[in-house]
Amino acid sequence: MTAVSPHLSSIHSSAGTRRGQSVAFEGVSKIYDDGTPAVESLDLECPAGQITVFVGPSGCGKTTTLRMINRTVAPSTGTVSLGGRDIHAMDLTELRRGMGYVIQDAGLFPHRTIVENIATVPRLLGTPRREARRQALELMERVGLDQHLAKRYPYQLSGGQRQRVGVARALAGDPPVLLMDEPFSAVDPVVRAELQEELLRLQRDIEKTIVFVTHDIDEAVRLGDQIAVFTTGRLAQVGTPAKILTDPASDFVDEFVGSDAGVKWSSLLPARDIEPFTPPEDLDGWQLVIDDEGRCQGWRPPGAGDHLVDCRRTVRLASDSLRAVFDALLLSPCHLAPVIDDQDRVVGVVDYASALRALDRQREASR
Ligand code: ADP
Ligand code: MG
Repeated sequence: MTAVSPHLSSIHSSAGTRRGQSVAFEGVSKIYDDGTPAVESLDLECPAGQITVFVGPSGCGKTTTLRMINRTVAPSTGTVSLGGRDIHAMDLTELRRGMGYVIQDAGLFPHRTIVENIATVPRLLGTPRREARRQALELMERVGLDQHLAKRYPYQLSGGQRQRVGVARALAGDPPVLLMDEPFSAVDPVVRAELQEELLRLQRDIEKTIVFVTHDIDEAVRLGDQIAVFTTGRLAQVGTPAKILTDPASDFVDEFVGSDAGVKWSSLLPARDIEPFTPPEDLDGWQLVIDDEGRCQGWRPPGAGDHLVDCRRTVRLASDSLRAVFDALLLSPCHLAPVIDDQDRVVGVVDYASALRALDRQREASR
């Protein structure tokens, strides 16, 4: 028998074995029993293994649409399918087992410990206690939770930690589809950004089909492979984040993406093809000061002796976006941004002209 590396065995034993399946809506409408129209003739495909974000103002039908995927809401007309199969022809238990569900307050069982919460679905599926526990501990690690939290109860965790538990619990049955309804809306912006990063990192491994609901366009742009913009029961536009930001289909979408759509778009554009250069000798007297290890110390203003102006921002072209480059340029006292490598050593500078050339190249490439 050949040895399996610990990394591989952990991936195959819990989340990540079952890749996503596509979810599709065809002519789907929902009118609630009291006559409220929530969704009108919706046609939409959420591609397998990708993140589709439903975004739009409150009350426009996002949650209703999401809940028609796991049949907690039944469509009035139309068909919802999973991997090409009509979900209403499927066994309900089988359907639900294939879908993890994460909601805003995480919806954890208050009287169960964290590890018991995460092990809920595997236990229901008949996994022996010890094995379910082992999988739960592994999932805690995957979502960035320290194992010393395993025996705590939900009220003993922070909001951000509870959301991580919610994600781990949703992944525990290894479902191909993950439904997430405003999962990060109640946590503060810093923790929220961490949770978003974590979800993207996780998704690179597990490639689930994720349908993610938010009312926040920034969150949609950060997370979505595809964004579906809703307006009272209808789709206003479906497209990549870049398409939605640069080519809104209507005044509604234009207004919804906000007045800084261009700036948001620049956060999607990589800075990696900008060529850093050596700062010219005569920079109106400004001089970039570097220490013996090659690290940036600051800008020395014209004729200012030993006084240095802080660099504020440096950029790593390999991983930063054009937005980060523009931010660094805007904050620079001399219209140049220092470029550093992954050991924080200065390798050169960039200016507005080089950033704008990169922007033009990417605009050209996307045509
Ligand atoms: P969103 O998630 O975008 O905020 P919802 O899907 O929750 O929107 O709601 C869409 C519309 O359907 C709203 O007008 C809402 O009041 C209505 N609605 C939601 N759930 C029900 C229900 N169970 N019964 C009647 N109307 C509902
Ligand atoms: Mg909702």
